Amino acid sequence: MFDTAIAGSLPKPAWLAQTETLWPQWRAEGAALQQAKLDATLLWIKAQEDAGLSVIGDGEMSRQHFVHGFLERVDGIDFEHKVEMGIRADRYKAMVPQVVSRLALKGRVHEAEARFLRAHTTRRIKFTLPGPMTIVDTVADRHYGDRKAMAFAFAELLNQEALALRADGVDIVQFDEPAFNVYMDDAADWGVQALERAARGLTCTTAVHICYGYGIQANIDWKKTLGDEWRQYERVFPALAASSIDQVSLECIHSHVPPDLMALLKGKDVMVGVIDVASERVETPDEVADTIGRALQFVPRERLIACTNCGLAPMNRAVAEAKLRALGAGAALARTRYAA
Ligand code: ZN
Repeated sequence: MFDTAIAGSLPKPAWLAQTETLWPQWRAEGAALQQAKLDATLLWIKAQEDAGLSVIGDGEMSRQHFVHGFLERVDGIDFEHKVEMGIRADRYKAMVPQVVSRLALKGRVHEAEARFLRAHTTRRIKFTLPGPMTIVDTVADRHYGDRKAMAFAFAELLNQEALALRADGVDIVQFDEPAFNVYMDDAADWGVQALERAARGLTCTTAVHICYGYGIQANIDWKKTLGDEWRQYERVFPALAASSIDQVSLECIHSHVPPDLMALLKGKDVMVGVIDVASERVETPDEVADTIGRALQFVPRERLIACTNCGLAPMNRAVAEAKLRALGAGAALARTRYAA
């Protein structure tokens, strides 16, 4: 009862990259960088296990950013000439690479870190990939001229990598789709279809993470404009409930998401956000258990996975470690409290 998992990313140690920033510069290069990435991965595997988490991730130590880590291994993308683009409906500006010709994978994307993760924990492992719609919203298009067509092109490439990750021993492949909370009509119209294309043929568990973004200022400011009730999930959850995807995540603690929206995910495992990524204050196990209790009104206990609201990449490392421990301890408390 109550699996525990992180959404995906964790802070990079100061010796690996710049800290507390979203697109950090690496501290090393070449073989030294590759080794440092795996060393950091090992450190976070241990921290997740020590915190008692049942599903372990690589913390995304090997990628500079959750979207661009994938794009770096795709042919047809010009990384030399990045352009500034407003992303997530212009919520913030980012320097993004450009799609300049037909897309194809250069080879495997995450083989090294997936196999490393598999080799260093006996617990179930989850591996994250950016979702097709979110990729399309984080790259400049100079070739396809149509967001949906480009999303399906990326979905094919994601599918190739996802099938290979399964063969590497990954138990859960998760696609990250924060864009679903921004372009709700497109998400319900074709975003979920593109997601299913990316997950086609996977024999492992499939998941989608949808959130209100990292705890950065632009997102905190955006959330202030969303009113007292955040109903974005209401538009896309019915489409996801009808889809082949097994697990769906949502923000819960300290959000304005009405908890009853979880009832729209009938038949799905629900990753409930019980750890706030926009606050440095560490939750108590009691608060985590309380949040799980609220979600239990709408999610069957065997389908509830305690999770973080989003990735912890831009956070302070010590705070993130403490939040992992709160997640593990809170879920343990909930198992006792809600056992009957
Ligand atoms: Zn997120």
